[in-house]
Amino acid sequence: MQKNAAVNYNDGCFKVVVEKCEGCDRIVEQEGNKFCSTYLNPEAKWKLGMCNFATHAKIEIAVSKVRINPLKAAKRASKGK
Ligand code: SF4
Repeated sequence: MQKNAAVNYNDGCFKVVVEKCEGCDRIVEQEGNKFCSTYLNPEAKWKLGMCNFATHAKIEIAVSKVRINPLKAAKRASKGK
């Protein structure tokens, strides 16, 4: 199978990356400009929060630990039958 020919990021379809993209592995540099290899318009990806494909930043998910009483859980399970 033939591999994709080199993408021309400077053809006007791709927008340059924004400040928040700095450090992301998906950035490709072409002729002095930096583009995202995943999105045409990186700015739009950051408008509604953080880019979900960013490799340099991760969404922090607050995990709350719910304590379960094993005895009560077993009782509840047996009642459900
Ligand atoms: S994947 Fe997201 S953070 Fe990374 S360069 Fe593209 S738009 Fe920017």
